[in-house]
Amino acid sequence: SKHFAVRRTLRHFADRARPVVHAVDDVSLTLRRGSVTAVVGESGSGKSTIARLLAQLYPTTSGELLLHGRPTRVGRGRAFRAYCRQVQLIFQDPFGSLNPTHTVRYHLTRALRIHGRAGQGPAELEQALAELLGRVHLSPPERYLDSFPHQLSGGQRQRVAIARAMAADPAVLLADEPVSMLDVSIRLGILNLLRDLKERLNLAILYITHDIASARYFADETLVMYAGRLVEGGDSETVTQRPAHPYTQLLTSSAPDPDRIVAGDPTPATDPAGGEVVAEERENETAGEPPSLISPPSGCRFHPRCPKAMARCRTESPPRFDLADGQWAACWLYAPEPAERPAAREASA
Ligand code: SF4
Ligand code: MG
Repeated sequence: SKHFAVRRTLRHFADRARPVVHAVDDVSLTLRRGSVTAVVGESGSGKSTIARLLAQLYPTTSGELLLHGRPTRVGRGRAFRAYCRQVQLIFQDPFGSLNPTHTVRYHLTRALRIHGRAGQGPAELEQALAELLGRVHLSPPERYLDSFPHQLSGGQRQRVAIARAMAADPAVLLADEPVSMLDVSIRLGILNLLRDLKERLNLAILYITHDIASARYFADETLVMYAGRLVEGGDSETVTQRPAHPYTQLLTSSAPDPDRIVAGDPTPATDPAGGEVVAEERENETAGEPPSLISPPSGCRFHPRCPKAMARCRTESPPRFDLADGQWAACWLYAPEPAERPAAREASA
């Protein structure tokens, strides 16, 4: 079966102004055709790094990328271009990803040409453009084709960005916080559009988000990331309703009832306080701050914030332990051996 995987990926890169190391460490994931996989984590957890590694915007320092089960080579002519066509990226900010001096027609025509799908002559091009806009429910096409990005709403711009990605006829769509900068009232519409495209075009979608409630709604599988590592995974319903890892439990306890977004209530799952707030500003409200990735905590990286930390958690990094129904957690609570006594900090509390 067709799949796409990154294994044991480790990446370090430096920020020019203030040297920082961002890393994802020993991350292994598989994206499947016709399926949405969510990676949920706080700002700074490394979740966006995964999307950029998969888009090959950053090289991997170790590990491998497989596309349709075959290894891919980074930065090698035709194979690299074929990879880039099949793996498309959608960003958080549709305004930033569209050139303000060019029309929708320009953006989509260029994408179709790059991928050799503009057809023979003007009539076929018009047909292809209309088809793309139809796929993202912007119709009639003539109302949008000659618009500039600033003439469109945030949601319309994100639809254009999605149409541009579809121009490549991809197998994989990497969506990095695709709705978190949009008005709360239109987030559900964009997620529904992506789900519809997934089903009709048999796409594999990676959905990067800080909003675990939206993962339950939108994703088939959910992976939880903390400090550069995946700490829990399983089908979305299980991970969000019966979280096993203490970090996932913290995330779900601070998220409101996701059923409201499903029912179309304008109250966003991402925003417990109400109002439209850019996601990045709110992410760190979960108790405690995520650790720096320059020198992550020893042992389990979550141990300084974990209410259930035990002695071994400080020194030994937990492997993945399999639970029921495909759920797993990287946490010593699920080690087969008898659990240790709680750490001293708990006893003194
Ligand atoms: Fe908490 Fe220990 Fe599990 Fe880490 S391994 S989440 S510190 S109980
Ligand atoms: Mg990010």
